[in-house]
Amino acid sequence: MNLRYSKPSAAILSENLKLIQNDAGLHAQQAAHVRSLLEGSPRTSCLLCNSNLAGEEFTHRGIPYRCCTVCNHIQTSVLPPAGYPVPGTFSTIYPDLSAEDFNKRKTQIYQPKLQWIIESLTAGGYNLDRLRRMQWIEMGCGAGYFLSALLDQGIRGPRGFDADATLVKQANTHLSMPAAQVFTDALPELLQRYSADVYVAFFLLEHIAEPHRFLTMLRACPPGTIFAFSVPVYGFSCIIEQIFTDNWARNLDSEVHTQIYTDESIVFAMRQAGFDIIAEWIFGQDGSDLYRYVTLNAKTPFTEKFLHRGCPGFLNALEAFQAELDKNRLSDQRHVLAVKR
Ligand SMILES: [Zn+2]
Repeated sequence: MNLRYSKPSAAILSENLKLIQNDAGLHAQQAAHVRSLLEGSPRTSCLLCNSNLAGEEFTHRGIPYRCCTVCNHIQTSVLPPAGYPVPGTFSTIYPDLSAEDFNKRKTQIYQPKLQWIIESLTAGGYNLDRLRRMQWIEMGCGAGYFLSALLDQGIRGPRGFDADATLVKQANTHLSMPAAQVFTDALPELLQRYSADVYVAFFLLEHIAEPHRFLTMLRACPPGTIFAFSVPVYGFSCIIEQIFTDNWARNLDSEVHTQIYTDESIVFAMRQAGFDIIAEWIFGQDGSDLYRYVTLNAKTPFTEKFLHRGCPGFLNALEAFQAELDKNRLSDQRHVLAVKR
């Protein structure tokens, strides 16, 4: 298995500063959204493995969760009510961007993902020309950053699908060809309807209502099918979210994330789908969450002055701290590359 750790966090610093500025409003909105979850009926079967949902219940920021004893997938122990998450929640996270901002985000976040996929595959014996001729499909393509990275790399005719028509429109205005299209059916249907050599899904699987059925459909893919995906996992960020409950939560927020993966549930999922994991890239935003929480809560004038004076040192220390979390598999995200047996 090809393992890679860490990633410079400079790209997320400006986003983090915006979150610090808007924390009070975001937290109030999140708390209001999350409240409706408490009206849900009990969840009886595990989202991922479909077994009876057993396991000790724990409370995360007021919402009950269980970690499935069969597959270790973490999920709310109540079913989210119909229409959850509240409409409009996602569009506040993905604002419309200028061409300059689009290219910056593509370069900082999505090109490195593609480089990692290509480097891992070529290390595993794939030829770049062959990868360029393959059919790539991105599920949940959003505003098209990764599709644009694929086109830059010379990948022929990549296709992207997203349920959000506004994001698809944005994507096609930024892309050199209209590669993005709206797809509003469930994800298992997408696999059934559109065949590909490479499927990509960044931070999507944690949002789907039927991951169990998705894995069954994935299992039907021909041998050699490549699946590259990323998911949030229960990590250090989740722990500090339990401490700073008066601030906005980014990871296990119960707002857009009512389920979260673990290393064990990722392995379980890939085994169920008949895929071998060939590479992992482990990094996270736990350090930037810690920075945000400390900055928002250490508010005496002396501490503010101290932090301001020591700011580059504080950020450097957090970068080193994040690298240690990554190496010890405590960070909050996993990027996984797997191939069908
Ligand atoms: Zn399970």
